[in-house]
Amino acid sequence: MKRIECYGDSRILTGCYHCGGKANTVDHAPPKVLLDKPYPDEMIVVPSCYVCNNSASLDESWLACVVECALTGEVDAARVSRPVVAKMLARSPALASSMAAIRSITENGTMFHPDMDRVRRIITKIARAHAAYELHEHFEHEPLAVDVFPLSLLSDQALLNFENFGDGKLAMWPDVGSRAMQRLLEGYPGDRPGWVVVQKGRYRYMAGVEDGSVVRMVLSEYLGCEVTWDF
Ligand SMILES: [Zn+2]
Repeated sequence: MKRIECYGDSRILTGCYHCGGKANTVDHAPPKVLLDKPYPDEMIVVPSCYVCNNSASLDESWLACVVECALTGEVDAARVSRPVVAKMLARSPALASSMAAIRSITENGTMFHPDMDRVRRIITKIARAHAAYELHEHFEHEPLAVDVFPLSLLSDQALLNFENFGDGKLAMWPDVGSRAMQRLLEGYPGDRPGWVVVQKGRYRYMAGVEDGSVVRMVLSEYLGCEVTWDF
């Protein structure tokens, strides 16, 4: 993935991309646990304070397990597909039993019922980093909306709207120097116009401006996420 420089006003983003505090580390966006090895050549990193960088890693590991278990219907280390998730489940009996606890198997199929507040909190943190990186905007306040859903549950029309931003074009142009603006002019990495494909099949996202500033992410081509901030 080609690295895109940001030419936006450097006074807008000065600190941690998550909280705005003093940045003394860098954080991966998306978190590495949501990707498989070998990792992409150019990993996206954002300035982060120590606390934001380290406070979420348990949450992010948990989310990676939830997505993989829900996708495969399994909670057993030996039966999931992603090696990193298999390793985490094998190493942590507590994590494995927490996955079993949110799974229900009925005659209608296998369902998972994760703590959605926790899911939305984790997704919001990652989306905030994408928004800062792509749109050159920092949203310290809470988003207007955070939606998380399996893509398979969307209607055809809803899926079309989710996949295509403003009919394939950004409805309003983002900050002139931002990466989103440069991608608009130069094209997108991967084979999905409008999306930044970080790792095919594992993680992609888009960021743009519609009625508000919107970040969409897709995890494992299974879980769709949309986070919207007002202006
Ligand atoms: Zn921070």
